[in-house]
Order: sequence, then C-alpha cells, then structure tokens
Amino acid sequence: MARVVITGGAGFIGSHLCESFLDRGHEVMCVDNFLTGSRENVSPFSSHSRFSFIDHNVTRFINVDGPVDMVLHFASPASPVDYLELPIPTLKVGSLGTHNALGLAKAKNALFFLASTSEVYGDPLVKPQREDYWGNVNPVGPRGVYDEAKRFAEAMTMAYHRYHGLNTRIVRIFNTYGPRMRMKDGRVVPNFITQALTGEGLTVYGEGKQTRSFLYIDDLVRGIHRLLECDYHLPMNLGNPHEITVLEFAKKILELTGSKSPIVYKPLPQDDPQVRQPDISKARELLGWEPEVLLEAGLTKTIQYFSQRLLG
Ligand code: NAD
Ligand code: UDP
Repeated sequence: MARVVITGGAGFIGSHLCESFLDRGHEVMCVDNFLTGSRENVSPFSSHSRFSFIDHNVTRFINVDGPVDMVLHFASPASPVDYLELPIPTLKVGSLGTHNALGLAKAKNALFFLASTSEVYGDPLVKPQREDYWGNVNPVGPRGVYDEAKRFAEAMTMAYHRYHGLNTRIVRIFNTYGPRMRMKDGRVVPNFITQALTGEGLTVYGEGKQTRSFLYIDDLVRGIHRLLECDYHLPMNLGNPHEITVLEFAKKILELTGSKSPIVYKPLPQDDPQVRQPDISKARELLGWEPEVLLEAGLTKTIQYFSQRLLG
C-alpha cells in the first residue's frame, strides 16, 4: 500500500484519481482549497478509512505527517474562464504550488507527478503535436497566465529531476471530460451539455472551425497509472487523437441529447488555439496505452451526470 498525496484532489480529474488510488488499495491524502473544486466531488469516498482531506492552499508550505510515496500535483484552475478570472492564483499555483509540491516529494523521497497540459503548445503551428514541439505561446496574452505557469512547472520538475535526482513524471493532458466537471466552469463540454439540456442556445465561439480532441476521464486515469509505472521522465502526451471541430461537437451534443436548442455564435476568445490534436506515439510505444472509450459512450455518461445534477 502506498501513501499518496493528490493536490487538486477535489477537482474534476483529481477526484477521479483519488478514487482510483483508493480502489487500488492505497492511502490517499487529498490537498485542496476548493478554489475551483468542490466537497461534493470527494463526497462519494470522503468517509473511506484510507482517505483524508487537507484543506490547504498549496502556494503555501505543504505539511504532511509521516511517510509519503507519491505526490501528484493536479492543483490549478484548468478552464480558460477560471484562469482568466483567477490570473494570479493560476500563476502562483503553477509556480509556487509546484515548487512546494516538489519540495514535499524531495523531503519524503517520493515520486513526483506533474499534471501539465496541451496548452504548453499554445496555438500550435504543427499538427499533430508531438512532445518535442516547443510550442507557440503568447506569454503576455490572457492565456499566458496558465500556459507559462505550466511551462515553468515543467522546467522546475525537470530541474528537480536532473539536479536533485527526484523520480518525476510529467503528463501533458489534452481536453479531458466526464462526470464531476463543474456545470458552470465555462469549458465547452459542460457549457454545451447544460445548454442543450436546458434549451438554451449552444454558444459556439468564432465560426466553430477550431478543433479539439476529447478524452474520456477513465482513459486518462488509466494512462496516468501506466505512466506512474514507467521509468520515463520527459513529458508525455495523453489525449485522444480523434480531432473534431467545435461546430461538429455542438451538433454531436444536440444529437445525443435530442435537444432542439439553436446554435448561437459568439466572438472567438483571444489566442484560442485553432487546432489541437495529440501525437500519442510515445504513449502507445512506452505505455501500450491508447483511448478506448468512444466519444458517444463517454458523452452519454457525462450527459447522464449533468441531467441528474440539473434535476437534483
Ligand atoms: P479543476 O478546476 O476541476 O480542478 C483543479 C483543482 O485544483 C480544484 O479542486 C481546485 O480547488 C484546486 N486548486 C486550485 N488552486 C489550488 C491551490 N492553490 N491550492 C489547493 N488546491 C487548489 O480542473 P481539472 O480539469 O480537474 O484539472 C486538474 C489538473 O489537470 C490541472 O492541473 C489542469 O491544469 C490539468 N489539466 C486538465 C485538463 C482537462 O482537460 N481537464 C487538460 C490539461 C491539463
Ligand atoms: N468553446 C465554444 N463555446 C463555449 C466554450 C468553448 O465554442 O461555450 C470553444 C473554445 O473557444 C475552444 C474550444 O471550445 O475553441 C474548447 O474550449 P474549452 O474552454 O473547453 O478549453 P480549451 O480547449 O480552449 O482549453
């Protein structure tokens, strides 16, 4: 049994990770300050004997008693709407928070796992994006607070690996969706689903020609566990290579919900990446991993989750 610290454990991805470690027989210490997460996300397992919650802002020194085997650093706003509203907390959690989480891992001689993002590629000029692409990021644009914080976090993680010999992993996560996303977090999946279910117009930004590739949460969690077991320290993409335009995605949500909502067009946010598609050759080769959940199947489960939330 490992003792695992998960920062951001009350968020969407973090809560699924907490659950997966509990299911595998480990002890989980979830550290979160509910900036964008919620108590409800951890309520399904909050009374588990191997689960504990530490209400703490990780931009401050992180104190954990006893031995720790792994530190998974997932704390950070992740929705563009959230990080535009919280620019300084986003920069701080990606920089100071990462430094503290690395410090905890070093003090405990634990493995450190960083949640990075496809946003490190910015508005990419190449497609698909391989891990050795350095990206096209506007450091002073509105998204720079997230992109640069995550780039700093990657650099800091590699420095701890190279200088202190820390055992580290870096995952670059591409758009992941599923139950426990916040209904109003502003990302395209919760927006379109709640709009479709409530009969509001689906807000397509720009002409909806920009592309994304959507990964279901269970596939991501499986990939994270594979990466933890693999002795590989450079960043690794985890995402779904199946690319779709935002407009096609809106139509898919209308079809799956049976909604009669109209599509309404809104201005494209500044620096919105025009394409995003992961090259997952590395994950295929080193982890034997690729997505298994079809878009329709993952969306159906997510729609069910949001329907229940809207009813209850
Ligand atoms: P989320 O907003 O649901 O979860 C983030 C969690 O971090 C929340 O519970 C929040 O309260 C917590 N948090 C933020 N700042 C904190 C602080 N200073 N101290 C303690 N807790 C803090 O977002 P998510 O989608 O679950 O994303 C989780 C991680 O995965 C983030 O690091 C994000 O950058 C990364 N990621 C997610 C995606 C995706 O598609 N969901 C894609 C790329 C990267
Ligand atoms: N988007 C949209 N309507 C919405 C929310 C998002 O058209 O109501 C678009 C957004 O402009 C982007 C894509 O959907 O091109 C994905 O946006 P999201 O906020 O989910 O995250 P991103 O991939 O940009 O980090």
